[in-house]
Amino acid sequence: TIGMLAMDKNGDISGACTTSGLAYKMGGRVGDSPIIGSGLFVDNQVGACVATGLGEEVVKTVGSFLVVELLRQGKSPQQACEEAILRIVNKPNSNYKNFQVGYIAMNKKGETGSYAIHQWFSMTKFQDEKNEQIQSDYFLK
Ligand code: ASP
Repeated sequence: TIGMLAMDKNGDISGACTTSGLAYKMGGRVGDSPIIGSGLFVDNQVGACVATGLGEEVVKTVGSFLVVELLRQGKSPQQACEEAILRIVNKPNSNYKNFQVGYIAMNKKGETGSYAIHQWFSMTKFQDEKNEQIQSDYFLK
């Protein structure tokens, strides 16, 4: 998935994502990316989140909606992404060592965060005319 979150000069938030789905997926499979609340969720009063990785796991926790709800409760984008990843890995019998999920999030202040199960998840932040490549923190160390 390529996910994008943006804030314009008025502070309005938008988001988008695109995906190839999974390699060798079953015909008819629908991943998380086209399902609002799972692969992507934007609430212009609160913030936004986009997911990548094994969509089935994101759908089961309604991941992007969960992250935005955590922002609504006052969590930072980083805290919200971490809690949503923990929601997946702490499930009984979670097979998380064998799949990746990553989230990026932004709140109304323009603060951002990201977190993944495995390493090598990165985001690019463009702010004040500068690009910053950010390697995400991750759960499985
Ligand atoms: N999240 C996508 C899916 O499960 C896969 C990806 O592009 O990251 O369909």
